[in-house]
Formats: sequence, structure tokens, C-alpha cells
Amino acid sequence: MEIGGTVVSSLEYSGKMSLVIFMAKCPLRCPYCHNSEILEGGEPTTLEEIFKIIDDSVDYIDAVVISGGEPLVQIDELLEILKYSKSLGLKTKVDTSACYPKRLKKVLNYIDYLAIDVKAPFNRYKELTMFNIGNKVKNSIQIANDNKETFLECRTTYVPGLLDHEDIKQIANEISCDLYTLQQFRNKNVLDESLEDVKSPNPIELKILANEIQPIINTKVKIKTAEFGEECI
Ligand code: SF4
Repeated sequence: MEIGGTVVSSLEYSGKMSLVIFMAKCPLRCPYCHNSEILEGGEPTTLEEIFKIIDDSVDYIDAVVISGGEPLVQIDELLEILKYSKSLGLKTKVDTSACYPKRLKKVLNYIDYLAIDVKAPFNRYKELTMFNIGNKVKNSIQIANDNKETFLECRTTYVPGLLDHEDIKQIANEISCDLYTLQQFRNKNVLDESLEDVKSPNPIELKILANEIQPIINTKVKIKTAEFGEECI
């Protein structure tokens, strides 16, 4: 398998210390991607090496978080890591773009917390990611909602110029989840360099928008900004 590295963090799984494994490779090319260096591949690593890193961390972590890249690209290795983590009594979280609903179904029983990036209203996916995968993301959300054991967070990075308030309202109408997070776009180290000139949205604007969509989505809503961290609405 190929990875982009590992890190121990208290930020990636709310209330838990976690070992984060960045799995390399992703079929998408989101213009605001911050992990462009691992989209094509990463450091060749064996499963045994990953298990050893988990073993070495197990005394001070509560969870293993698999992020990327897109973890579902390397589905067999992902499944083994999830099974191994569960066998040690650790919680598991997976961050995904949800573009592989069938693969998601295979691993969902081993995931405690699933975070799906909803990048646009389903009918605007091609414009924002170059791929017409809105229906696949919709299917993945449905599959995740059918599994009551897995907590589902959906999250959207609000990029001014690519998305507007109406898009966020449309997303809120189209999805169902346990938590919806509106993330502030940051213009550093992005795949599409033209976005380096786009200013990050003001936290106040995000808060107003989050308040507007809360009655639409009818679930817990959070905003995440560099200035104030995570705030529940
Ligand atoms: S933002 Fe995520 S889904 Fe998009 S290209 Fe980067 S790793 Fe892939």
C-alpha cells in the first residue's frame, strides 16, 4: 500500500486522541485540495508496518482515523487496518469523498465515525470536481444512513466563487446526517493556484449561513474556521 504519512492528533476525532493515517491516491482533483502531493501515490508501506505503528501508539490513543487522499482507493488494505484497529478495541473513523458507494458498503461495519465531504449540490459535481459523481455520493450517504451504528458527519468546504449561499442551502436540502460541518476555505497550498487569490470567507458570514441552513437540514450544524476553531450552531 502507499501512504502519505501518519500523525497523532486530538483534532481529527472529536474528544479522542487518534492515530491518523493518510492513505495516498485519489481519483478526484478538487481545486482546493491541500494534499496534492499524495494524489498520485505515496510512500510504499506494508500492512505489517502499519500494524506496528498502531501497536506502538495503542497505549495513548483511543482511535485510528484513516484520511487521505481517498482511503477507499486501497480498499483491501483499508479493510485490514479497520479490522485490526477494532480487534485492539480502538474506535475507527474514515474520511472519504464518497465516490465509491459499493466499496463503502464493504467496510462500513468496521467504521464508527464516517466523515463524507459533500463538495457541491449533487447536480454541480462535474463543475467542481471534473467528475459527474453526484449520484455516487448520494448513494453513499444513503448507505451510511442505513447503518445506524455508524455516526455520519457530512461536511462542505465553502469556497467563495465556486459555491454560493444557494448551493449550501441546496446541499442542506439534499442530504441527511448526524452532523453537518461548514468548513472555511483556506487559500494556502491548494491544487489550483488561481485559488490562492481567493480570500477565506469571513467567520461571521459562515455563522450566518450556518444559522440559515440549520432549520433546513434539521440536524446539528458546526462551523470550522482558522480564527475560532469549531463552533456549534
Ligand atoms: S480534496 Fe480530497 S477528494 Fe478532493 S482531490 Fe483532494 S484528497 Fe481527493
